[in-house]
Amino acid sequence: MERVLISESPKFIGQVIKIAGWVNVRRDHGKIIFIDIRDRSGIIQSVVIPDEKETYETAKTLKGEYSIEVEGLVKERPASAKKEDLITGGVEMEVKKIKILGKTYAELPIDISKEEMDLNLDTLLNNRVISLRNDKIKAIFKVSAEIVRSYSEFLRKEGFLEIKTPKILSSATEGGANFFKIKYFEKDAFLAQSPQFYKQSAVSFFERVFEVGPVFRAEPHFTSRHVNEFTGLDAEMGFINNFEDVMRELERTMSYVMKSVSKNCVQEIKKYNIEPPKIKNVFPRIKLTEALDILKKEFGKEISGIDIDPEGERLISEWVKKKYKSDFVFLIHYPAGTRPFYTMPSADPQFTESFDLLFRGMEIASGGQRIHDYEQLVRNIQKFKLNPNDFEDYLENFKYGMPPHGGWGLGLERIAQQILGISSIKEAILFPRDVKRLTP
Ligand code: ATP
Repeated sequence: MERVLISESPKFIGQVIKIAGWVNVRRDHGKIIFIDIRDRSGIIQSVVIPDEKETYETAKTLKGEYSIEVEGLVKERPASAKKEDLITGGVEMEVKKIKILGKTYAELPIDISKEEMDLNLDTLLNNRVISLRNDKIKAIFKVSAEIVRSYSEFLRKEGFLEIKTPKILSSATEGGANFFKIKYFEKDAFLAQSPQFYKQSAVSFFERVFEVGPVFRAEPHFTSRHVNEFTGLDAEMGFINNFEDVMRELERTMSYVMKSVSKNCVQEIKKYNIEPPKIKNVFPRIKLTEALDILKKEFGKEISGIDIDPEGERLISEWVKKKYKSDFVFLIHYPAGTRPFYTMPSADPQFTESFDLLFRGMEIASGGQRIHDYEQLVRNIQKFKLNPNDFEDYLENFKYGMPPHGGWGLGLERIAQQILGISSIKEAILFPRDVKRLTP
């Protein structure tokens, strides 16, 4: 007999089926043993009665998280016992045979059988191999996977080619202190803190590219939105007219991603009891300087520098939500000093053709138009008090007809975090890396 998925069991009422999964929980009620069995598709309640002698003896030995294969008769549950919130809530299984596939050799450190585990972040992360078996936690990664799938699907349709750029670099190219230095045979090397230079280079041969890949940041942050390794969803496009073209593409991409997640992750979103994202076809755009004025006027908040801080991002998103009913907002025209040297200056050179995209109060992307003219780029590198000789390989692209181009870098985990309303980004990473955490 072929195995079927637990979620398919309601189709087999009155028939014997074979399933495989884990013992979510075993309950002994007098002579009857109930086993909730969990596979990747769902959970089903099964019942073992003493008449099935050998099976009954096996059932008595089962512990939480044993992996088992079970044959049994699918039965409709009485109306009073139906559980509307489960796909399999209308059926149960009368067990005929149990085969133990994998035993449990240690006490379970945490109870994952209930959807709500109510554990603190450290306990969840320290016991990751167990906590990741919980259905509500697994839902986060199904949403993440849907984000990546729909992101890639949309960009492919738009003529972007998926690329992979090197993550081991010869120098800390973009400057700054947030690079991890590693030993590379006889030399020192660095882990990429973005695919920036290589994706720009790829524009010169593929025009439009995107990448889903790891990003390493040696930032000593202790926040709920930073980690030291995350997944970047990057894109770069050539032959643009201006940075509005880039925002338009990102806005359409995010609309597609949000619609796909809302459509294909209904069960997962339900578990987090949150509203699916509100999508407008055009996201509001606010100049950063105007946003800072709004913060001052509406919230009495003074920003000390020229950039917005996380609390400012939250407040401005709140204001946008009220005024424009949008969960997204672009903050545009960041001052020149807040963006990297390759950012295209605006007509007023104090500002740049750049943006950040905020989603439900948090930055999820940065982007903009890049300088494409070789001589202008060299001048800007010098203006930043950097040495053009240190950028020889990068500059090589710009000597041969580099078209006007721009792009963005999105953080996958922040998108998932904000869709589901999770308090820490670390919950949206299988095995997160932060200043203190290098294991599990
Ligand atoms: P922030 O200002 O929030 O520190 P950033 O300006 O350093 O972010 P960028 O370098 O512009 O971020 O990176 C692009 C995107 O990558 C961000 O919008 C975010 O989604 C994600 N990202 C950046 N740094 C981190 C990090 N340390 N952990 C998780 N995601 C990050």
